[in-house]
Amino acid sequence: MVEEFAFDNTEERRKSRQTDGAGWVEVIVGSMFSGKSEELIRRLRRAQIARQKVQVFKPVIDDRYSIEQIASHSGMTHVSKPVMTAAEMMSQMEDETQVVGIDEGQFFDMAVVEAVNKLANSGKRVIIAGLDQDYLGRPFEPMPQLLSIAEFITKTHAICVRCGNTANYSQRTSDSTERVEVGASDKYEARCRKCFVPYSDAPTVHE
Ligand code: ADP
Ligand code: ZN
Repeated sequence: MVEEFAFDNTEERRKSRQTDGAGWVEVIVGSMFSGKSEELIRRLRRAQIARQKVQVFKPVIDDRYSIEQIASHSGMTHVSKPVMTAAEMMSQMEDETQVVGIDEGQFFDMAVVEAVNKLANSGKRVIIAGLDQDYLGRPFEPMPQLLSIAEFITKTHAICVRCGNTANYSQRTSDSTERVEVGASDKYEARCRKCFVPYSDAPTVHE
């Protein structure tokens, strides 16, 4: 139903901007398991094939997870630098970098919005992936602000594990009411609008 719109921001459109030396912002948003990290890694790999200088960052939300890579649920990985804040990311930015990748954008502080604008203004292509909604379905800052300043937006969708429809929500299946609760299929499921229950719901059991 929606897939045909998912990747309509063609590389050709992006490339035509690059020829005039201008930078720009691409944002990839969707629920958990919707393929945001896969799409980010795909774009970063293509940039590297084109011999562009790439730097990738991921916010540290928990010291236990400050591993030096971004990873998709399907096993794709890419090296990345863990940083605590947008300011730390900027302090590590190298002038020659042409493409900046950021995963888990929702865990950055609001200063990332200004930082991303600055990077794009200085001629860099900035690609940010992140959750657009939290476990209650509320807009997850700073992603709404990043969507507002982006030239290109891609919305990815997962498959609802209850009914197979297009999923736009991350259903938390554990009891926590913390906004940030790190986990994958142990704590979250992709659900569609009809099957989403804002507060914790029993996980779907696959036979
Ligand atoms: P995100 O970064 O949006 O959480 P990933 O790129 O890490 O997503 O993972 C996407 C991959 O997750 C899919 O290609 C698929 O292999 C797997 N996956 C697991 N559960 C689902 C689901 N319910 N819907 C779609 N993909 C799923
Ligand atoms: Zn459903």
